[in-house]
Amino acid sequence: MRLIFIGPPGIGKGTYAKMISQKYGIPHISTGDIFREEIAKGSELGLKVKQYVEKGLLVPDEIVVEVVRKVLERPECRKGFILDGFPRTIEQAKALDNMTKIDVVFLFEAPVEVIIERVSGRLICPKCGAIYNISWKPPKTPGICDVCGTPLIRRKDDEPEVVRTRYQVYKQTFAPVIDYYRRKGILVEIDASRDAREVVADVEKILREKRLIKE
Ligand code: AMP
Repeated sequence: MRLIFIGPPGIGKGTYAKMISQKYGIPHISTGDIFREEIAKGSELGLKVKQYVEKGLLVPDEIVVEVVRKVLERPECRKGFILDGFPRTIEQAKALDNMTKIDVVFLFEAPVEVIIERVSGRLICPKCGAIYNISWKPPKTPGICDVCGTPLIRRKDDEPEVVRTRYQVYKQTFAPVIDYYRRKGILVEIDASRDAREVVADVEKILREKRLIKE
């Protein structure tokens, strides 16, 4: 099954993608993660995209499309994949159409207030990367990482005002792409204001209805 996940930052898209990816053995491909890894490695690609990613600007279509093309050619993508963060422009969507046939595009939605509440409780460990949430996954000792004992921090881009701005940027960026898939008739909207397990159960229900997974 070849899927695309679209949703605003902080909606939990990465969690849903991970759950589906592990259960059905299909890779979760996040272009943002790929770029961050390449930047950290200091690779040729990393150096090329660094200037864009660090400013929050879109990486040029030619570069992103080639990256995705190479990833989709890997044997592990033969059974299917989940694309996350791609496509972000109509040009990217059209290029993707020339590479493969997408089965379903899931659009995860929730009111911005729900997203703010979710991410404002998020704490991360600056040392080992462990993620906590004050409401549903608190650390054993308040403010301290269970894994390595480092004081936890809140990411700068999880501050409410920043979340609100990122939400607006997301809406503007993805509106044409969402419209593109809606017109194609393969867009499915999912209410993501509920528990992650319920959201994923909804995704699986749709996949079952479309006969992409068995009962
Ligand atoms: P994300 O983690 O999806 O928010 O991506 C982080 C950054 O990577 C974005 O702000 C862009 O600079 C870059 N990026 C990721 N995916 C794309 C894409 N499909 N097109 C252009 N730039 C992208």
